[in-house]
Amino acid sequence: MKSLPKIAKVLLDLSLDRSFDYAIPPDLAADIRVGMKVNVPFGNGKGERTAYVVAFAETSPYPTLKPILSLCEDRISLPDSLIRLGEWMADYYCCARESAIRNLLPGAVRNGKVKQKTENWYFLADRDSAMSYITANAKAKARCAVLKVLLNAPGGMESVQLQKEAGTSASVLKKLLDDKVIMIEERGVERDPFKGVKVMPTAPKEPNEQQAEALQIIKNKLHDRTKEESHVVLMHGVTGSGKTEVYLQSIAEVIAMRKEAIMLVPEISLTPQTVGLFRARFGDELCVLHSGLSDGERYDEWMKVQSGKVKIAVGARSALFAPFRNLALIIVDEEHDTSYKQSEAPRYNARDVAVVRGKLENALVLLGSATPSVESYHNATTGKYTLVKMTKRYDPTVLMPSVSVVDMRLESDENGRIPFFSKGLIQAIRDRIGRGEQSIVFLNRRGFARQMNCPACGYIAMCSECSVALTYHRRSQMLSCHFCAGTMPAPEICPECGSHDIRYQGNGTERIENIFEELFRGARIARMDSDTMTRPSLYEKTLASFRKGEIDILIGTQMIAKGLDFPNVTFVGVVNADLGLYVPGDFRAQEHAFQLLTQVAGRAGRGEIPGEVLIQTCAPFNSAIQYAVEHDYDGFFKEEIMLREELAFPPFGHMMIIHFRGEEVEKVQEAANALMTLIRPYIDPDTRVTEPAPATVERIAGKYRYTALFMGGKLAQLRRVIKRAIYTEKHPGVDIYVDMDAISFL
Ligand code: ADP
Ligand code: ZN
Ligand code: ZN
Repeated sequence: MKSLPKIAKVLLDLSLDRSFDYAIPPDLAADIRVGMKVNVPFGNGKGERTAYVVAFAETSPYPTLKPILSLCEDRISLPDSLIRLGEWMADYYCCARESAIRNLLPGAVRNGKVKQKTENWYFLADRDSAMSYITANAKAKARCAVLKVLLNAPGGMESVQLQKEAGTSASVLKKLLDDKVIMIEERGVERDPFKGVKVMPTAPKEPNEQQAEALQIIKNKLHDRTKEESHVVLMHGVTGSGKTEVYLQSIAEVIAMRKEAIMLVPEISLTPQTVGLFRARFGDELCVLHSGLSDGERYDEWMKVQSGKVKIAVGARSALFAPFRNLALIIVDEEHDTSYKQSEAPRYNARDVAVVRGKLENALVLLGSATPSVESYHNATTGKYTLVKMTKRYDPTVLMPSVSVVDMRLESDENGRIPFFSKGLIQAIRDRIGRGEQSIVFLNRRGFARQMNCPACGYIAMCSECSVALTYHRRSQMLSCHFCAGTMPAPEICPECGSHDIRYQGNGTERIENIFEELFRGARIARMDSDTMTRPSLYEKTLASFRKGEIDILIGTQMIAKGLDFPNVTFVGVVNADLGLYVPGDFRAQEHAFQLLTQVAGRAGRGEIPGEVLIQTCAPFNSAIQYAVEHDYDGFFKEEIMLREELAFPPFGHMMIIHFRGEEVEKVQEAANALMTLIRPYIDPDTRVTEPAPATVERIAGKYRYTALFMGGKLAQLRRVIKRAIYTEKHPGVDIYVDMDAISFL
């Protein structure tokens, strides 16, 4: 028999990036597991803290160890492999191990505040004594009523219901309890995020040829895969090619193998429709994990995985850490989506961590997209991943939309001013309204106007806490900062010179809505952006009325770019494709523009009538736009990958940014210089370094921000040095952190 563990290495809920040794008392030794939450003494006094066991040891360099006090009563524990995944993340993403381990558990589970929901149930001690009690106490009407109800409820009854049915109060129940004729029991119940939502079960659909081929490859890899064979499949399928059905049938195969599957989707597409699709196929075998749930619901959903009640977890980023122990498949839908990257510590990309978890647990990883990230497609073309292509729409009569480009420079008026809308776009929408078809108008920007400036004196309304201009929101008459979310009332006259001619520039979604109300009188117009869609229920409501045909024109931001499938949408207009094309220093700008345009275009013509897409731009020959027009992913990729290789950008090297933030700019500079001096000897000669300098947005929420940028293939050792420095060298008033495989430069 294996000997029982004596010493546990635990991580406390502090960001120290180190573990502590504790002795395991003999009475806990048989039950303790790696990944378990435990209580330990900490500090000199009687302090007690929760901690996670990350490893066992035979010996410790410390002569006397304090003992672990107890195992946490909820018996929450993480699989060993997840702890190892957490350690990998701490290493790779250069964050404290505690922060990585903490991230494996939803807050609701971790903080111990949410407990299993319980109800009080009452039942009779025994029927005979209940009946004699009624006879003996015939005058106590209320008590007798309770007993009569319970005589007819052999399984007992929940407290509130019982009081209602017997028409009594809690004090009556208490008296009966005291008299020992009834008994009470606390029963655990689950909070149901699907309460009241019924779905019709669906059967698997007969796959077409391309789907069958994809499924064959996936199934083969699920069943027997050699060590040499890649454990990652990249499914590149055009919009409408039927990727979802492939996901569903792959998961069904996993269930048939009595194993478990995780399905990740971007948060934004985690709508009740998506969830409904999965529930319709798998019913109660599935749980959902995302930020829209209440703490209680999240606790219960997570517990369903922990207790082995479900075999499938569907969710956003964090669902990747569902504590399955027999995982066979992780699916990452829309794998290129940047929302998989978490912007707070640990700054991980769920797509990449999925690949690592798959490797650690010998699970297959299926990445799917119509516009794969350059990184993943590169891995597929070099053989690191297995590539599966679905080049045709499932229904061949549903044609790819025809995409055309309007050169907005040719639309300018006699003064050279470029209008918001081309004649073609206005006509196209007018035609759709006339025919009872629907249009989507897409703009990559919120608000009514970009900024507020005064033509008389040049004043620009700036955020007081950030070095950015404020955005004007007409409906609320507010100026808001899109970086720190601060707001202030919009001034009516220029605060500098008093001019009344203060102008609102630019054309946000709100402005479009306004112009459209004038242009298309009587048309039903709705807007979807983060200003109007403040609650998920609003999002659902708007989509539902769009589906029912109660809206003619839907105006929106990124929010409407993804996943919407409305057969009656026959026109999509992109107001300004140039936004986001030229972001200074952002080598991914082209890739993101191509992906976004392709996705937006994919919203048109999903039904019988072919779709038409019109892209307004001042850069009609830009290659991202050109390839999107041609639906030519491969062409785009070939050109892009050549550029990346030439410049040694990812995937031919990693990009890492060190951020320095603080309220006093001198201290920030000082900390940045000190760290650079410390790490300089460890920088590989092939690594390109951009010395610390003010970030693109120099100040956010009152904090100055400096960044240093590293680009290269060999960053592992450097990361270790940086991490040690961050956790040992203190720079009061300055936060230092690393963003590995950074997406944003801000
Ligand atoms: P994608 O996710 O690749 O964009 P979808 O999964 O939305 O594509 O599929 C497009 C349409 O084709 C959907 O309406 C879907 O129900 C339908 N579909 C996909 N596969 C099948 C199939 N095997 N049999 C019948 N209909 C299918
Ligand atoms: Zn002015
Ligand atoms: Zn601000």
